[in-house]
Amino acid sequence: MVDHTQVVIIGAGPAGLAVGACLRRQGIEFIILERSSEVGTSWRNHYERLHLHTAKGYSALPFMPFPVDYPRYPSRQQVVDYIDAYAERFKLHPIFNQTVTSITRQNGQWETKTNDTVYTSDFVVVATGLNQVPTVPTWAGQEAFTGKIVHSKDYKNGEPYRGQKVLVVGFGNSGAEIALDAYEHGATVGVSVRNPVNVIFQQQFGIPLQLMTIMLNPLPAKVIDFLTAPLLMLTFGNLKPYGLQSPPYGAATQVRQYSKIPVIDPGIIAKIKRREIKVYAGIERFTADGVTFTDGTSQAFDLVVLATGYRTNISEILPEYKADAKLEDCVYLCGFTNAMTGLLREIGIEAERISKDIVRRAKKT
Ligand SMILES: Cc1cc2nc3c(=O)[nH]c(=O)nc-3n(C[C@H](O)[C@H](O)[C@H](O)COP(=O)(O)OP(=O)(O)OC[C@H]3O[C@@H](n4cnc5c(N)ncnc54)[C@H](O)[C@@H]3O)c2cc1C
Repeated sequence: MVDHTQVVIIGAGPAGLAVGACLRRQGIEFIILERSSEVGTSWRNHYERLHLHTAKGYSALPFMPFPVDYPRYPSRQQVVDYIDAYAERFKLHPIFNQTVTSITRQNGQWETKTNDTVYTSDFVVVATGLNQVPTVPTWAGQEAFTGKIVHSKDYKNGEPYRGQKVLVVGFGNSGAEIALDAYEHGATVGVSVRNPVNVIFQQQFGIPLQLMTIMLNPLPAKVIDFLTAPLLMLTFGNLKPYGLQSPPYGAATQVRQYSKIPVIDPGIIAKIKRREIKVYAGIERFTADGVTFTDGTSQAFDLVVLATGYRTNISEILPEYKADAKLEDCVYLCGFTNAMTGLLREIGIEAERISKDIVRRAKKT
């Protein structure tokens, strides 16, 4: 079966829905293809403790603020409810259970193939998200480990691990929050941190750091790092004695140069400083009952949570895509650029830009 439309949007997360809402306002015909059976599926599946790290005032999608009675940092469930309400408000009805397998250029049009249908369109917007394919590293000795190893995508809450020895591998935002969650559920928790990390606070003196970064955003990254360094030092002090090394660059440089969001402290730094959560080196190998770290020490664990991140699935569905290439021929990407100012905020800005560009090009044809 072949269906034709003006725009195919792939993914019904915040990015795909935001583009849909913008196109709806512009009177452009589109469809949204979603591989699962609901909108906002990534947020539905995240660990339960999750709240927005960014403030709701700077994280709303176009044309619809978060409800006034939500807290400044809404819970995961509130974000899910907001996404549902957003789809409803703009009458966005994705075609569900459509897994896009390829996008190719055929006879001057885009051909989007799914598990059971081919869609042709003048424009395609890929909004499949930065976090689609879990990164799952492996180590020597792992097959003989008698404990359990799970990726962070399968961690929901710490209840099943009460009283257990838990190692969280990776110290990004998910790793920090999952470690804290397991600790608060009564586990003995360690984090394995291989590389230096930048840690920032969510807010200080009642002002969200996100607001400060939005204001400082026009400045070069090095200047932002220089200006924020004293406040960060005042907040956290030197974390080296606790096993956390700092990279030779600050948080703004890290985001702009390496597209990596710094750790927004969910409260774990205080626990680390009190040695309630222990920082270990990177993993060298697994043993039957635990792990040997790169510094030669060994420790027993019942559960190892791999908070080792995700990658996109762009290259699977769009083989011509090169990370450093500018996409031509009416394919747009929405939601793939990490920013200090918050990805949801950037998604809104990108969605409006993309829809305006589609309108402009559609008028020409
Ligand atoms: C744990 C976590 C916390 C975050 N917290 C914040 C925060 O506080 N503030 C902020 O600004 N940002 C945050 N982000 C970043 C970002 O805003 C979210 O990841 C957001 O969900 C991104 O929206 P998206 O639509 O780009 O991707 P997603 O929400 O992942 O949506 C992508 C959609 O595409 C679908 N899809 C994927 N592949 C296919 C395919 N082949 N065919 C069809 N459909 C497909 C998926 O099923 C999914 O529904 C967070 C991210 C994570 C992982």
